[in-house]
Amino acid sequence: MSPKQNSAVGEQAAAKSKKTTKAAKRTSEKPADVKSPSSERTSGRSGSSKPAAKAPGAKRPKSAKPESHLAMVRRARRINRELADVYPYAHPELDFRNPFELLVATVLSAQTTDLRVNQTTPALFAKYPTPEDMAAAVPEELEEVIRPTGFFRAKTRSLIGLSTALRDRYDGEVPGTLKDLVTLPGVGRKTANVVLGNAFGVPGLTVDTHFGRLVRRWKWTDQEDPEKVEAEIAAIFPKSEWTMLSHRIIFHGRRVCHSRKPACGACPIAPLCPSYGEGETDPEKAKKLLKYELGGYPGQRLSPPPDYPGKPAPPLGTPAGAE
Ligand code: SF4
Repeated sequence: MSPKQNSAVGEQAAAKSKKTTKAAKRTSEKPADVKSPSSERTSGRSGSSKPAAKAPGAKRPKSAKPESHLAMVRRARRINRELADVYPYAHPELDFRNPFELLVATVLSAQTTDLRVNQTTPALFAKYPTPEDMAAAVPEELEEVIRPTGFFRAKTRSLIGLSTALRDRYDGEVPGTLKDLVTLPGVGRKTANVVLGNAFGVPGLTVDTHFGRLVRRWKWTDQEDPEKVEAEIAAIFPKSEWTMLSHRIIFHGRRVCHSRKPACGACPIAPLCPSYGEGETDPEKAKKLLKYELGGYPGQRLSPPPDYPGKPAPPLGTPAGAE
């Protein structure tokens, strides 16, 4: 188990003693018939027992003054605490056992789902467990193994290229700095931050499509460029929060605040969201939009951390309904 997973388990255990009080408070704060994991389990984070703020956008009279930067920062930190209560088990949704596996899985995750990557990597790492093995791969054979993830020719070039660089320049080890990671073929800033945050414990923000969409909906930034988004969000939160904040936001984006139909009526942070109403507000209809463990479905990882409350994902090729 990774140190991060350990820490999530620890948080959950610590939370049990505060469960009754906090759950009671939160129930009365929720906008609708929301049954989030925090109604049954809570983390012990400080500050989250305060009553939820009034929605800064939708529920405000039109004449209200624009939100100050300080108020936005406070609201952003409040959202982070609320999300920590809702997703105490937030984690990277790629299966990996070491930095090399996480690096490879992250490269493969471009233009596909983490689920599809997780269903593909067991066979990949069985055949090519080390950078040396992958550097020596016959490209056509590697392509066949990773074909389910799409763009398999370009991804094969990246994997062989980065494995060769690891073998020749880093003694077969994944380097633990942004500066070195981004020199590897197929590795950009986002991939490097995922690897640093989750395999090396170096705080990093992962600005993927979910992260960008949600922070703009929350009016934390209006930037579109991922690097500018990263810089603006980094200024709102202490470094120590960056990695877990990224997981919480991405969890929320995948489960509740979807791109096309956000489930606003089942959203535990609706009172803090200026974009409340952009999606379905009817609580019953919104509940049906929830995904993964919140909707009662399997997650994305075949080997989720022990504290994950949902079902593991099925292996590749499992017929629908057989999982
Ligand atoms: S689901 Fe709706 S209320 Fe919740 S964060 Fe997204 S836009 Fe805001």
